[in-house]
Amino acid sequence: MKTAVYPGSFDPVTLGHYDIIERTAKIMDRVVIGVLQNKSKTPLFSAQERVKMLEEVTKDLPNVEVRCFDGLLIDFARSCDAKVIVRGLRAVTDFEYELQMAQTNRVIAPEIDTLFLNTNLKYSYLSSSIVKEIAEFGGDIQEFLHPQIARKVMEKFAQGRDLGKK
Ligand code: ADP
Repeated sequence: MKTAVYPGSFDPVTLGHYDIIERTAKIMDRVVIGVLQNKSKTPLFSAQERVKMLEEVTKDLPNVEVRCFDGLLIDFARSCDAKVIVRGLRAVTDFEYELQMAQTNRVIAPEIDTLFLNTNLKYSYLSSSIVKEIAEFGGDIQEFLHPQIARKVMEKFAQGRDLGKK
């Protein structure tokens, strides 16, 4: 059974992430999406909310599961019995950091390989941060997210604006 982990912040999951998940699910037997509980960043959505959103959008992909993780990625990969870490590459700007991470992980865990999937050209510009910036100023984010996720992001920012008025 070939298992891959696909780690990230997914704050929130975009169509770019989903494209990578769908393609990985076709080439691997099992895909575990790892939602990083990154304490140094303040995410828009809690780790539980991010897991729930990913579960919703991947509900029709039977070999995909979603988990939360903290600590070293290779420990998470080992706990999932995965020999492959999947990362998406959008542009050259992603490359340097990703290569450094992949090489470091390979030194620590030689049995685990990193597999890079190039982005779908349609989503090569897309990131969770861009989506949040647009939503913060009331822009239309429907093009970038599943409809139920777009709704949740808009609700979050609307809540923030309401709190700001009080
Ligand atoms: P991280 O904080 O680990 O970069 P992200 O949630 O931003 O977490 O991204 C998770 C993974 O998905 C990374 O490998 C990233 O390069 C990839 N990714 C993000 N957006 C896209 C996109 N539009 N197309 C392809 N891959 C993407």
